[in-house]
Amino acid sequence: MPTRPKTFRPASGPGSDAYRRQQAAEYDRRRRETGEVHRLYGTQRWKRMRAHQKMIEPLCRMCLADGITCAATTADHVVPHRGDVEAFWSNELQSLCNACHNSVKQREEQSTLHRGRGV
Ligand SMILES: [Zn+2]
Repeated sequence: MPTRPKTFRPASGPGSDAYRRQQAAEYDRRRRETGEVHRLYGTQRWKRMRAHQKMIEPLCRMCLADGITCAATTADHVVPHRGDVEAFWSNELQSLCNACHNSVKQREEQSTLHRGRGV
């Protein structure tokens, strides 16, 4: 009588169906929230905030820290809002140039990946 090889199917943890479903749900939720906050970038209120930020801090903060004088092009949240509308409006802003802004965003994405879920 043939015996079937035992297959290891963890009930939870990485690799299990439940885990994958949970990850997908988490991803969906974050995407929805991020989408909602993304719309705020088109509002007059944000445009005023951004203009104000560039007025009070016309130079890139990160370049300035390295002794480089560089015109800021972007208003960035010092503490990432991570899709939180409340944080979007209340978190402190900093002026950054494109290059610095991109490097900040990349670091944020990496830290989100490494930590699993955002804090
Ligand atoms: Zn810069």
